Amino acid sequence: MDKISIIIPCYNEEDSIPLFYKEMTKVMKKMFNVKFEILFINDGSFDNSLKEIKKLAKEHDEVKYISFSRNFGKEAAMIAGLDYASGDYVAIMDVDLQDPPEKLEEMYKIIKNNSDIDCVGLKTNSHDDYGFIRKFFTNCFYKIIGKMSKTEMVPGARDFRLMTRQMVDAIISLREYNRYSKGLFSFVGFNTEWLTYKIPERKAGKTTWNFFKLCAYAFDGILAFTTTPLTIAAFIGVIFCLVSLIAIIVIIIKTLLFGDPVDGWPSLVCIMFFLSGIQLFCTGIIGAYLSKTYTEVKKRPIYIVKEKNIEKV
Ligand code: UDP
Ligand code: MG
Repeated sequence: MDKISIIIPCYNEEDSIPLFYKEMTKVMKKMFNVKFEILFINDGSFDNSLKEIKKLAKEHDEVKYISFSRNFGKEAAMIAGLDYASGDYVAIMDVDLQDPPEKLEEMYKIIKNNSDIDCVGLKTNSHDDYGFIRKFFTNCFYKIIGKMSKTEMVPGARDFRLMTRQMVDAIISLREYNRYSKGLFSFVGFNTEWLTYKIPERKAGKTTWNFFKLCAYAFDGILAFTTTPLTIAAFIGVIFCLVSLIAIIVIIIKTLLFGDPVDGWPSLVCIMFFLSGIQLFCTGIIGAYLSKTYTEVKKRPIYIVKEKNIEKV
């Protein structure tokens, strides 16, 4: 009998947890030929999420939990889940039912019946619920990172996916601190089959993401999967050197031919401001990579567990 582990990161989701489990029960009944492990990761919630999870764990043997000492973020929750999950197949799902559990049956069928498929992921092709600005920036992000990075980022891909043990082990072996899962999932390779769906509304609670957090997340993705911005900074430097060389030659010739009239103060100031801006911009890019390197070399743990009812196998 196959075992499927379901990893569910939860951050202040006291209302969603019981609703999620109810939906999950229906799926488990339908998929009676599979053993389930429902692994909730309490990511430092300050509401009653942990209480709700413990209540479920008391009543149902398949419910396991790991509770962090504070909020470490969804990326940390996902790797913690992968570290502890013992299933032959492992799925990651949001608790707010935006990743519909009923899709699991179809996903499992695909992965089970095709030995060359290692992962079944869900993606959305409609961003109708996004405002114009968010749609624009989302498209820009995928275009930019698509051009810059060798790792493929699939537009609209969710974290909701069912993976084989082999793929899970590959992801666990990547222990970087600054995690950007969308990239890590494709970095490890393996064959992914994509199912398309329309993301339903959140069933309870509210999202922790806002526009600025999303921008920062997109920027993290670029920093984690390409060093092209550093090349661009170097390229800008070369271009400006060339331009200034030409300008110097033009000025020397002009002075020799027409004398040296002392003017051009405003243009000089503009050029100085412009070049200082470019220099700061390029230093900022280097700084961004340096700060990521700094957090990486400290080798702090990605997450810290406070309580759990499951052991690593
Ligand atoms: N989440 C988490 N830690 C966080 C933020 C979110 O574990 O710091 C969980 C959250 O409980 C949910 C999932 O990650 O199960 C997705 O979060 P959310 O619904 O806010 O994101 P969205 O669906 O809007 O992208
Ligand atoms: Mg959500």
